[in-house]
Amino acid sequence: MAAADVGDDVFGDDPTVNHLEAMIAERFGAERALFFPTGTQSNLAALMAHCGRGDEYLVGQNAHTYKYEQGGAAVLGSIQPQPLENEPDGTIAIGRITEAIKPDDVHFARTRLLALENTAGGRVLPLSYLSAATGVVHARGLATHLDGARLFNAIVKSGIDETAAVAGFDSVSVCLSKGLGAPAGSVLLGRRELIGAARRWRKALGGGMRQAGILAAAGIYALQHHVERLVEDHANALLLADGLSAIGLAVEAPETNMIYVAVPDDQVAGLQAHLTAAGIQASVCARTRLVTHLDVSREGIRIAVEAFEAYVAARGQALTDLG
Ligand SMILES: *Cc1c(COP(=O)(O)O)cnc(C)c1O
Repeated sequence: MAAADVGDDVFGDDPTVNHLEAMIAERFGAERALFFPTGTQSNLAALMAHCGRGDEYLVGQNAHTYKYEQGGAAVLGSIQPQPLENEPDGTIAIGRITEAIKPDDVHFARTRLLALENTAGGRVLPLSYLSAATGVVHARGLATHLDGARLFNAIVKSGIDETAAVAGFDSVSVCLSKGLGAPAGSVLLGRRELIGAARRWRKALGGGMRQAGILAAAGIYALQHHVERLVEDHANALLLADGLSAIGLAVEAPETNMIYVAVPDDQVAGLQAHLTAAGIQASVCARTRLVTHLDVSREGIRIAVEAFEAYVAARGQALTDLG
């Protein structure tokens, strides 16, 4: 990062940002790529590039863009979300999607876009589903966006080709700072015109950075060194799930790097305090999510399981009643 060649990326002349964008575009077979400081901004700029004021996008109830980004599409983009129920596997039933597309009528917002997420809560969406969903909405004249903040986890898990993973999407946001471990950065992929529009919105949203090459350099390193190793995170998630199941907890088995543990309401505060005291960062709730990543070692997994075990031993069976 310290040695990165830098320029002014607002003017498109930071060589390291340009290198990162070219490298990732090529990898995914996209025409263009655009570097953003965060995934939230990358998703928002994409939605704003696809949809105008009074347009609508179809999105899962549990999707990050809808639920965890303060409704930015509506607040900042004047785009109405049409949230649709997610199936437990993270998909949205195709029938639900087609039913939600509004006819061209003055009463309705114009349905412009379908946004999906992969992985969705750690679940890998099957390629057959992705191609069916994107095919159906394209046939109805909608565009498609993929929030692929954790797409590399899906790619590594399923062993699919990167270009296959994004086939059918008009824009894709991938994150360099989650599983890949860069300090900041997401990249939006798409065709030239779409990325041009997103570049304009990026500036308006405050994401035009100057000597951003120092951040892009970390992203390049992450792409070169931290993709294949995601298998270790997936193995650690399995190890954690097995360890917690073995002590009687109700654990949803992981597909990638996330596991979910059921915690009874009356145990939330106690478990939270116990884990914090044990040096384990977790936001405990009824469905507590535990995520593995490159800073969590096998040894760390052992320590976490021991902390849960100590809690169960001290508090009796309350936590394991659900297991
Ligand atoms: C984290 C995340 C984002 C947002 O990324 P930030 O860089 O934190 O803004 C978007 N979508 C998904 C699925 C995420 O996990």
